[in-house]
Amino acid sequence: MSSLHRSQTQLATEIQRWRDDWIVRAGEERLLRVRWLWNPEEAALENVCVREQGGTVLDIRPCSDSELTNVLPVVLIPPLVNAHTHLEFSALADPLEPALPFQSWIQSLMKWRGSNGATLAESIRSGLAESIDSGVGLIGEISTNDEMALLSNQQFSNQRTSCVAFRELIGLSSARVQQQLELAERFLTAPSVAGVHRALSPHAPYTVHPDLLERAVALAGKHHIPVAMHLAETTDELELLESGTGRFQTFLSSMGLFDPKLFPGGRCILNLLKILSSASKVLAVHGNYFTDEDISFLSRHQNITTVYCPRTHHFFGHTPHPFRKLLSAGCRVVLGTDSRASNPDLSIWRELQHVARLAPELSPSQLLAMITTHSAEAMQCETTPFRIRQDQNFSPLFLLTENASEDLPKLIRNPSTIPWHPFLHQTSNNLPPHQEFSGHSHEE
Ligand SMILES: [Zn+2]
Repeated sequence: MSSLHRSQTQLATEIQRWRDDWIVRAGEERLLRVRWLWNPEEAALENVCVREQGGTVLDIRPCSDSELTNVLPVVLIPPLVNAHTHLEFSALADPLEPALPFQSWIQSLMKWRGSNGATLAESIRSGLAESIDSGVGLIGEISTNDEMALLSNQQFSNQRTSCVAFRELIGLSSARVQQQLELAERFLTAPSVAGVHRALSPHAPYTVHPDLLERAVALAGKHHIPVAMHLAETTDELELLESGTGRFQTFLSSMGLFDPKLFPGGRCILNLLKILSSASKVLAVHGNYFTDEDISFLSRHQNITTVYCPRTHHFFGHTPHPFRKLLSAGCRVVLGTDSRASNPDLSIWRELQHVARLAPELSPSQLLAMITTHSAEAMQCETTPFRIRQDQNFSPLFLLTENASEDLPKLIRNPSTIPWHPFLHQTSNNLPPHQEFSGHSHEE
């Protein structure tokens, strides 16, 4: 179909014209014809007409033959979900080095946090703006400090984006355990903030006292909220649990935080999964080193979802992630960006492309669920906004691509393909932004 091959300038002009016309006819019955409609968990539809009025989808049907010449060469998708990030590091231009050993990277992170020029507010604001720009409608955010006050000010006023704020809990001493639990309770019972759901995140096995973990999970159960925890991220973490030795032992000792009673050895990730499994919903973040036994347990505990952060995983040079094993065992796997401290940007779409290239056997419907409905479910949020359906709100993203005549799997992997929100920058006269639209051609 030659009509689907457009130069970027032609396509930009065509989309601009469509958008102007669409805005002018607000409130009327409007028709949008697109090359693809791609929803999670179902086969994508080719050459589709969406009838809309007042922001609601009236119906979705195949284009008639006569309508085919008038199809916009784009893919219509719902807003996206990023299941795991730390917005406080969004002011970083590039990931922190060295990536390895992991403890040195953590040290760089701590140093940056204490010394960076940008304030926490600036960093969070820029991370939110970047997320919204890249099509994210729901963010799983690991929240520290007084971030809630910042989030409440302005960020979600457009009601296009919401956030699950997982309050981070860190503590290895008994005094600290008590203080963190009080903080968690205060956080969960504070006045509500529009667009923000509250949740908890005991940080990781090497920073959380076993009592803190158990009691945080119990608190989450009491409030019926989800829990996120970094888990099975490095082999050093496994060694610390198994034998109380290794790089984490040295690292914690150097800060005067190592207590041999907390790490007596003889423990493993499965012990922690068992404790976590009593929460209503759990995000097991990373899971880079889940064993077969862990995966078998996860397949029997569907309330636990693994959050795979593909480009962060790549940044740290881990062994291949077990997402294929998890998926074939029937476990849920969703995607997260992690932070800009280990990732060049906060585009959850780029994470999906990374996985699509690694695992071409995954279907488009499966892939999209990993950054939409499955992620929303994992965080105990409604899935309705993350599907384009009749009688539902219509707030789609367009995937812009250099060649819409390609089949969908190819188009997904094409580096030029990027999500664009048609109504995000209504004041701009020149959309889509040329440099963005031409794609980030660099691959890691
Ligand atoms: Zn993280």
